Amino acid sequence: MDITTYKYALQVSQQYELTKTRSHNPLRINFRCPICGDSKVNMYETRGWFYEYKGELRYGCFNCNKNYPFPFYLKLRHPEIYRHYILEKNGDRYKKKEPTVEADTSNIGKKSLTSIIDDSTINKYCVRLDRLPEGHPALLYMQNRLIPEERMCLFWFTMKWRELANAVKPNTCSNNDPEPRIVIPIFDEKGNIASMQGRALRSTEKLRYMTVKSSEDANKVYGLERINPNETVFYLEGPIDSVFIDNALAIVGGTMSLEEAPHKKTRVWVLDNEPRSKDTCARMLKLIEAGERIVIWDKCKWQKKDVNDMILKEGATKEEINQYLRDNIVKGLRAKIRFNEWKKVIL
Ligand SMILES: [Zn+2]
Repeated sequence: MDITTYKYALQVSQQYELTKTRSHNPLRINFRCPICGDSKVNMYETRGWFYEYKGELRYGCFNCNKNYPFPFYLKLRHPEIYRHYILEKNGDRYKKKEPTVEADTSNIGKKSLTSIIDDSTINKYCVRLDRLPEGHPALLYMQNRLIPEERMCLFWFTMKWRELANAVKPNTCSNNDPEPRIVIPIFDEKGNIASMQGRALRSTEKLRYMTVKSSEDANKVYGLERINPNETVFYLEGPIDSVFIDNALAIVGGTMSLEEAPHKKTRVWVLDNEPRSKDTCARMLKLIEAGERIVIWDKCKWQKKDVNDMILKEGATKEEINQYLRDNIVKGLRAKIRFNEWKKVIL
């Protein structure tokens, strides 16, 4: 863990109640959880932690079960401090780089700056689902899809989708009439919102999913801010499916070339379970031929095409699906044999 993170963790935790640093190396700081307020009954309960896990600092609470990488937590709870933290961290990073590399990174920095959607924009038009009152239709909609409670904070609700879309990218919608949507922000690695997807809540909407990017090169990979790149990273077809899977990403708003997709060494592709879809089968074959690792659904007991439907309509559990994915990663010849058994179309 770097010294900047260490410093900020100590500083921030001092603002909390009953804070105790249990250990410095590895760093373990314990406090009364500021998100859930910890126990209502016992004033001395302290179940919130900053703790090191595989060299990274994380926040976690044993009461509300919220768990985030430290930078993401900071961004959520202390946006002002977070800004200083990022500046300081980047300062450290740039100093260490070779001059030639420095020129490159500064360029990337500038590029992404132009494509970041200001936090105040989303706050102006949307409410986060975990902050909505029980029984709100948007919350009910996601609860009916069995989205895990601890993942509700990843989704927002707006009544003014068109206004929001136009604020992010002018002329996206032809008018500003009210339109309710679930808003799924797509963050970059630093936790800045780079683009967003809106899922329609009315069946009359022409486009069920709409993705708005503030610029052409805005990040299109959902989940980057939360994953551990050193462990197996699963790429799913949709953000909602991805929240059921440990360490998962999703590509939104169209296709992406293999060169562009992050985490080449640890990534595994999980396409929909559609053995009768020519398009899905062709994409899978392409991945196999490129030497990529993929999951094939040939040995599973579920028939539905995506993770959410397997859970909703076939009673699969999140744990069962995660286990299946881990046990069925294949590549090369083995992938080809299983793929040929599974597909039901002629390519
Ligand atoms: Zn808590």
